[in-house]
Amino acid sequence: MQPRDLSDHVAYEAGRGIEEVARDLGLEADELVKLSSNENAFGPSPKAVAAIEAYAPTVHSYPKSSAVDLRDALADRWDVGSGQVWLANGGDGALDYLARAMLRPGEEVLVPAPGFAYYAMSARYHHGSVNEYPIRKADGFTQSAGTVLEHYDGERVIYLTTPHNPTGSELSPAGIEAVAEGTDKETLVIVDEAYGEFSDTPSVVPLVEERDDVAVIRTFSKAYGLAGIRLGYAVVPETWAEAYARVNTPFAASEIACRAGLAALEDRDHVEKTVDAVRWGREYIHGNLACQTWESAGNFVLCEVGDGSEVTERAQREGVIVRDTTSFGLPECVRITCGTREETKRAVAVLNELL
Ligand SMILES: *Cc1c(COP(=O)(O)O)cnc(C)c1O
Repeated sequence: MQPRDLSDHVAYEAGRGIEEVARDLGLEADELVKLSSNENAFGPSPKAVAAIEAYAPTVHSYPKSSAVDLRDALADRWDVGSGQVWLANGGDGALDYLARAMLRPGEEVLVPAPGFAYYAMSARYHHGSVNEYPIRKADGFTQSAGTVLEHYDGERVIYLTTPHNPTGSELSPAGIEAVAEGTDKETLVIVDEAYGEFSDTPSVVPLVEERDDVAVIRTFSKAYGLAGIRLGYAVVPETWAEAYARVNTPFAASEIACRAGLAALEDRDHVEKTVDAVRWGREYIHGNLACQTWESAGNFVLCEVGDGSEVTERAQREGVIVRDTTSFGLPECVRITCGTREETKRAVAVLNELL
């Protein structure tokens, strides 16, 4: 037998793991600088590590109270009801739950191009079809409600990413509201704030409180340094929050994930240190990399290097792993994650040699 027709489905291409690359190059992992997956250069919060260790002996139990506690803590943080927080296996899992809850077979979604590949993948798993709106290099990759609305044709779901991966551009809260206003009341606007902590622009969670057609995605993978634990969530309108119980995979976030998340939320210093290094790194890359770069509100900078695949390949041989953005439709660019100051400096030095 065979799976159903998956020819429309494109496999997700993750940035390569550090062990994988080290093995290929015959190097030790600690000789490499990995700036390809927008991970936290400082690792997880030490408090999260302690929580993971502390709760290891009780993982034979299903995560019940920890999930309740984490939903409560996040609800508190965002000033929403606990039911409005949909915990999931990463922000990606939260995207799946929204697609499960919203899409009827054959309905359409609208995604950014270039953009995060998982929006389209998730919509297709849920029997949706995918249309695109452009974020144009000719416009400096700026985002505008006007462009989204010009391309909108009654889709059931619109995905907005702010700060946007891989360009780093933002859409203002007023712009997001204009998209929600300008679309059908049966169209859900999903605002992906995976990089929200790195931006000065406020979150649009308050908009979720005012309307019933906007949801926000957040993750512990980036600023909180918990990518390996797989923890994210959606904040959804109160009116349909109860749909979670009908769509979520039971115990959507693991005991260890919930405990780590609770501890990480408490560790504001770790997030602050991370965000400070990222701000410094963005400036350093802009100021010192000898090619065109774009203003970024995320923990990465998009850089036009000529041949992205070749530069990625050659930088890797020098021990610096960056993200070739060919799979995003930007073969002339690479995306560099802001590392520690030392890592970012080394990446810029290596790339400048190659440019
Ligand atoms: C990293 C990322 C996410 C979420 O990733 P998870 O690890 O699944 O939480 C969501 N959207 C964008 C644009 C991202 O870059």
